[in-house]
Amino acid sequence: MQRLARDNRPLHFGTNFKMHQTPEETARFLAELAPRVDRVPDRVRLFVIPPFTSLPAAIAAREHSGLTSRVWIGAQNVHWAGEGAYTGEISVRMLTSIGVDFVLLGHAERRGHFGETDEALAKKVPAALDAGLRVLLCVGETAEEKAFGVGPETVIRQLKIALHTVGADALSRLLIGYEPVWSIGAGGTPARPEDVMETVVPLRRALGEQFGEAGGSVPILYGGSVAPENCGDFVTLEEIDGLFVGRAAWQVEGFERVLEAALAARGEASGYRD
Ligand code: PEP
Repeated sequence: MQRLARDNRPLHFGTNFKMHQTPEETARFLAELAPRVDRVPDRVRLFVIPPFTSLPAAIAAREHSGLTSRVWIGAQNVHWAGEGAYTGEISVRMLTSIGVDFVLLGHAERRGHFGETDEALAKKVPAALDAGLRVLLCVGETAEEKAFGVGPETVIRQLKIALHTVGADALSRLLIGYEPVWSIGAGGTPARPEDVMETVVPLRRALGEQFGEAGGSVPILYGGSVAPENCGDFVTLEEIDGLFVGRAAWQVEGFERVLEAALAARGEASGYRD
């Protein structure tokens, strides 16, 4: 499987607000981000994933700030059905109708707290991709799975089930987020580069086995306790095409600090040091 040289591949960088930020706070975040985006190289694709209630405000603020071509706005979940008796759920059409670009699926918190299964993801991922949404599919092993030595096979299983019916034609809209469950959130331990490589190399191989050459173009992002101090460990790994950041990027200053450190680690001119 051929991969483009790293300098020719986009670098993805963004944050998931989880259950934080009102519409006003989200709009303020985007407005504050806008002047800083001019200093970010074009090759960097930025994204923000606010809660459902903040999506319209995020999309309006993005347009108002002239960020529409630079920042993707994503939702944190979606249902697989077109419509129906699914109280509390949101459909793909509801997201596309307000201008959402992509959806995060399979986050560890949805799997762990809300019983999201691989089988549900096998329906959600194609439903979103078929409607033209981009999908950031999260996979990751628990501490127990890692301790038993089944981390790589766990994430490959998650990947294969979620992508079971996905065709190579949809791959240009797919991103994978590798997030070891044990590394996420305030109680998490940041992964070491060798932990990440141990899993993403087999993950990439599995993409190649399923999709052939096209599997080489799917970006794999790392997420889990990413901070300015450690982001260089991940973005300099050959298989990693971006960062998926939580707490450290919920304020614009933090977002910028992590991005600046990641670009510096890759030896990229960010304009931040002008
Ligand atoms: C996450 O929950 O997806 C995440 C990356 O969070 P944090 O960076 O806060 O560990």
